Amino acid sequence: MSRLVVVSNRVAQPREARAGGLASAMQAALEQHGGLWFGWSGRVVDGEAAAPRIERVDRIDYALVDLSHADHDQYYLGFANRTLWPLLHFRPSLLDYHRGDFAGYLRVNAMFARQLAPLLRDDDVVWIHDYHLIPLGAELRALGIGARIGFFLHVPVPPPGLLAVLPHHEQLFPKLAAYDLVGVQTWRDRDALLAYFRDELHAATGADGDVVLPDGRRCDVAAFPIGIDAAKVADQARKAANSPATARLVRSLEGRKLVIGVDRLDYSKGLPQRFEAFGGFLARHAAWRSRVSFLQIAPPSREQVQEYRDLRSRLERLAGATNGRYAEPDWVPIRYVNRSFTQGTLAGFYRVADIGLVTPLRDGMNLVAKEYVAAQPPDDPGVLVLSNFAGAADELAEAIIINPLDPEDIVESLERALSMPLAERRERWAAMFERVRRDDIAAWRRAFLDRLAR
Ligand code: UDP
Repeated sequence: MSRLVVVSNRVAQPREARAGGLASAMQAALEQHGGLWFGWSGRVVDGEAAAPRIERVDRIDYALVDLSHADHDQYYLGFANRTLWPLLHFRPSLLDYHRGDFAGYLRVNAMFARQLAPLLRDDDVVWIHDYHLIPLGAELRALGIGARIGFFLHVPVPPPGLLAVLPHHEQLFPKLAAYDLVGVQTWRDRDALLAYFRDELHAATGADGDVVLPDGRRCDVAAFPIGIDAAKVADQARKAANSPATARLVRSLEGRKLVIGVDRLDYSKGLPQRFEAFGGFLARHAAWRSRVSFLQIAPPSREQVQEYRDLRSRLERLAGATNGRYAEPDWVPIRYVNRSFTQGTLAGFYRVADIGLVTPLRDGMNLVAKEYVAAQPPDDPGVLVLSNFAGAADELAEAIIINPLDPEDIVESLERALSMPLAERRERWAAMFERVRRDDIAAWRRAFLDRLAR
């Protein structure tokens, strides 16, 4: 059995308390047959280290690379998060491109390749993750690495015309063809990437997602919708149902219905539209005032990027305006919480929420939607309201599917969800839960690695 080498921008630090689903999935895979996890340590230092720091914990080697201030500014904050993130989330108007950032992004990828190459063996299987590391495979090949290398893009792929908005895109996206396998979240992402390869690289593409480049090189492109550890979330939710945090939340509701949203504070998540729609719902359906509360958990992220700070002020205004307008001495419509919670705590909150409100403008998958489903009590499940523009909408078709750009659509879906009969709730939930449980994170990891081994 080959050794697995995982590469991602951030490495889940050994024994990290709040490791997400992806981190646990990678850790489980690495623990199975021993392996190496390579990436940024999360530290920004003066100057650059010549070699990664290696730590071994439970049969896994962690190779951690520090970034210099210039690397962090140009590669991480600049090109990855000010340029690629908005582009890949269909927001070219937010794209902020600087040649220096692009150069820094390429430089860090080349540096990662130089530091990783000496650690690799010929029979390794290398699995590289996400938009920070698009050129890494090509850089490793340039250093003579012959191992199988796969890449998974967690974010969406816009159509070729939009990818081509990026200055010098022809120096970036074609590098994806250096991978043996490129995995994306949905068939739409796969079709968009194949179309780009045809238009820009004059590649021939087959029905199975196989790409043949004019020079004869091959690369596969396929959809692997990422899942969650559904059994674990269901178990956490059962246990948390009676935890002090959940009990306090339930007590504070005093019998009111609960709508929940959980998102990083990111402009891709459609939070202003969601807040406005909740205000619109209270305006339109006066009978529901004082009878429903909306809890939005939104831990701040990427605060060094201006758009994220702007979004935060905008949401503060929107929440304040709606609360000021509709609140009663004993009821606040929007409970807006700018901090993060552990997944165990969230599972308890999901379980007692009557509605999971997930309305991103664009999302590669959206794991919160799947976690909400997995956490529901089978005898009395809540209702998921889900954006058509989350990758998860393909698999969770029994949710109430909405277009987040139409505020009326969200308003109507809230009314419909709040009055949905138990039998219909059960039927919709059972269909979704079955799929979330079957296509879980372990199945995702196996499907990708099996195809990469082919
Ligand atoms: N999450 C968390 N604590 C929080 C908020 C979110 O652990 O306070 C987790 C959440 O459970 C989910 C992940 O962060 O697993 C968010 O994944 P998603 O795909 O929904 O969005 P992303 O942040 O990757 O864009």
